[in-house]
Amino acid sequence: MTRRLEVLAEMGLAPVWRLRRAAAKPGWIELKQAVSGCTACALHQTRTQTVFGVGDESADWMIVGEAPGAEEDRLGDPFVGQAGKLLDNMLAALGLERGRNVYIANVLKCRPPGNRNPQPEEVAKCTPHLERQIELVRPKLILAMGRFAAQTLLASDASIAALRGQVHRHAGVPLIVTYHPAYLLRTLPDKAKAWADLVFARRTMAQL
Ligand code: URA
Repeated sequence: MTRRLEVLAEMGLAPVWRLRRAAAKPGWIELKQAVSGCTACALHQTRTQTVFGVGDESADWMIVGEAPGAEEDRLGDPFVGQAGKLLDNMLAALGLERGRNVYIANVLKCRPPGNRNPQPEEVAKCTPHLERQIELVRPKLILAMGRFAAQTLLASDASIAALRGQVHRHAGVPLIVTYHPAYLLRTLPDKAKAWADLVFARRTMAQL
C-alpha cells in the first residue's frame, strides 16, 4: 500500500473509490446522446425516434408538454402536429415564436403507443432528462402545459383547474400552469381560460 493509501485507510477514508467526485452532469451534447440512445423504459421499443426538445438553449421561456404524438415521433421535433399549430398561436400571443427566446420540451421523449397517457414508471425514468434540460436552459419562467407536465414538475396530483392562476416554483424557477393545446382543440370553451393564463404568464415574466 502506498503511504497515501495507508493514511487514508487509517483515517477511515479508504477505499479510494469512495473519494472520487460524483460524475459530472451531462452537457447538451451528452444529454442529447443519452436521450437518443435511451432504453430505460419500454417506449424505446415502439418509437421511431426520440423527441429531445427544440429551441433557444438559453431561452427565458420554457414550455413543457406531455409526450410526442405520431407527427412528433415521425419528425423528431416536439409540437409539430395539430396541437403544435395551436401552441405556435399561443406563443404568438406571448410575443414569442418557436426558436426565439423559447425552448420546448416534453415530459416524455418517446411516443406512448396510440397516444395513450404516460405511465408513472415512464415518467419516472424520463424526468431526469427533462430536469437536466431545465438546468441547462435556466429559463426565467416555465409554462407547464397540461396535467402531466404540471403534476410532474410540481410533484402534485392536483388538477389543472386547481393549479392555474398561481406562480408555482420548480427547483426555484417560477412555473405557471395552463391547459394542454391538444385538450384545447377538443374543449373550445376553455380557450378563454388558456388566454387568461397566457396574459398572466406574460405579466409575470415582465416582473421577473
Ligand atoms: N403533445 C405534447 O405534449 N407534446 C408534443 O410534442 C406533441 C403533442
